[in-house]
Amino acid sequence: MRIKKVEIFTGTIHYAEPFKISLGTSDKSDEVIVKLHGEDGLFGIGEASPTLRITGETQESVLGVADPLSSKIVGSDTDNLNLILDKIHNSFVGNTSAKAAFDIALYDIVSKENGKQLYKYLGGYRDKILTDVTIGIMGTKEAVEKAETLIRKGVKRIKIKVGIDILDDLKRVEAIRSVVGDRADLFIDANQAWKPKEAVSNINKFEVYGIDLVEQPVTAHDVKGLAFVRKNSPIPIMADESVHSPEDAIRIVEEQAADMVNIKLMKAGGISGAIRIAAISEAAGIGNMVGCMMEGAVGIGAGIHFALATKNVKFTDLDSDVDMKNTLTANKILPFRDGFRQATEKPGIGLEDVDRKEVKLVKTFTKVVERKSF
Ligand code: MN
Repeated sequence: MRIKKVEIFTGTIHYAEPFKISLGTSDKSDEVIVKLHGEDGLFGIGEASPTLRITGETQESVLGVADPLSSKIVGSDTDNLNLILDKIHNSFVGNTSAKAAFDIALYDIVSKENGKQLYKYLGGYRDKILTDVTIGIMGTKEAVEKAETLIRKGVKRIKIKVGIDILDDLKRVEAIRSVVGDRADLFIDANQAWKPKEAVSNINKFEVYGIDLVEQPVTAHDVKGLAFVRKNSPIPIMADESVHSPEDAIRIVEEQAADMVNIKLMKAGGISGAIRIAAISEAAGIGNMVGCMMEGAVGIGAGIHFALATKNVKFTDLDSDVDMKNTLTANKILPFRDGFRQATEKPGIGLEDVDRKEVKLVKTFTKVVERKSF
């Protein structure tokens, strides 16, 4: 099937409440949606959720590279999916959220072309997967109320953001553990906040609260520091910001720096990069979690399908769409029940379409058909 047209939309997602982590606070995210049009009315949608602090991207930078990426796709034949993906991923360095939007849109349209839900097109492994829900940095009382609400909703795994004030963090984690008891597994994410020795000292203080994982305790580039923490930590360590690409995953393996790797489609440039990171992790005996930035329904949907299809993904952190005021798509979000994520019965990612009331069309690319004159 030929890709006939690419449309680029912008839209803003507003959160139900501000989200605070050690790197800062946000209450909205400015997204870019890519819509590919094939033949027979088929279309595929992808989402970029750019974050300046993680991938160095903004909505503007994604729009800036939409032209060269679209030119690689318009007129191409989806029978050669891997060739199109290769052109996208090797067209220039970085810009992984932008590439992810095109990569996801391609997987959406190709799985629809094959009449399959995306996770089954990817080979399928399971029909539902556990997700945690994240509690940002907030007052202890608020955090406890939030934890109680999550337990009532059937959530079985809670991720707690830490890293601004250790005494405050310990108080909040203790209070959350005492209210959830053994009804949920808990883990913490410091988002690069600590120095290696400080991290070991802090992690030891959290051990008593039954924390089963510590995410990204030290700064992203300090892989040797991460390895030092892992060697001296009583709790398993997960790399997040330290791993964007398959090459980063190899470095983690070489340095024995983590017990788990958090794969995010926005860091990996989409599903094709995620598949490679999972393969490297699995071969090294390292488990994966699939996480997210602040994507709406499309980006999270793609993450859910990738997780459903991938054996090495142990659980997910795919929750950003659940508590948003809008998600840029007509049929809101994929199912979230009793702490598990699932696909719908529809082919592709399984979402209807972009919501034209929430997004604005900013660019259209079509192939110029050259006509022969006789
Ligand atoms: Mn993280």
